[in-house]
Amino acid sequence: MGSAAARPATTGIFGSGTFGTVRGVLFDIDDTLVDLEYALTTALREVSEHLLPGLDAAGWEKFGRIFTHETTHYYDQYLAGELTFNEQRLLRGRAALGHFGVELEEGEESHAWLSEYARLQPSYVRAFEDVAPVLDALDAAGIPYGAVSNNVHDYQRVKLDSAGLARIAVLVGTDTVGVPKPDPAIYLEGVRLLGTRPEETLYVGDNRLLDAEGSTAAGLRGVWLNRVGDTAEGFVGHEIDSLARLLD
Ligand SMILES: [Mg+2]
Repeated sequence: MGSAAARPATTGIFGSGTFGTVRGVLFDIDDTLVDLEYALTTALREVSEHLLPGLDAAGWEKFGRIFTHETTHYYDQYLAGELTFNEQRLLRGRAALGHFGVELEEGEESHAWLSEYARLQPSYVRAFEDVAPVLDALDAAGIPYGAVSNNVHDYQRVKLDSAGLARIAVLVGTDTVGVPKPDPAIYLEGVRLLGTRPEETLYVGDNRLLDAEGSTAAGLRGVWLNRVGDTAEGFVGHEIDSLARLLD
């Protein structure tokens, strides 16, 4: 990573208009760079299918949604240090199974479900198709980039590498500075590692609060990646529906 200060302002891909002068870009990881929802729901179904024989497509969709969207309070408890990573995962699985009247037994059955899920899930993690062209463009423009995530560094390092994103060398996890998003310190550590200034650094992520608004509050230029067309009443920041929009 060279010094960004020595580089002239880029007038290429990110140079004009919407985002102003951009000398660095930080990305969220889950559901921004990698399709975590696909990996979660695919692995979840595979390890739970024997418990829910005959569940229809709508049922599996609901099952996945409970795990990925309706039980995120357990992940918040993990971030707050109140649950371990595996505990929050198991509680989310139990909630999804419980919705369909299946109770995972404590002990061996829970352990087997959890370890099989943990074994399978990483194999389904893949990068979104719009990631490589953006990273190629950043490389071509000499703009440094990295990732700032609300999970621990080593876990996310393996995830990026196995998704074919080893080229993302700068990675800040919750254990890097000891605080999660939206604490300003975690975004600013990413900025420090890029060697840029906050106001010249884009932060792009799928979570409106933790990514777009949190990074903006820390002095970066937050961009909300709204891949799924969520409505966002009152949101006044930058919004894109694909990373390809960064190249427009
Ligand atoms: Mg995310």
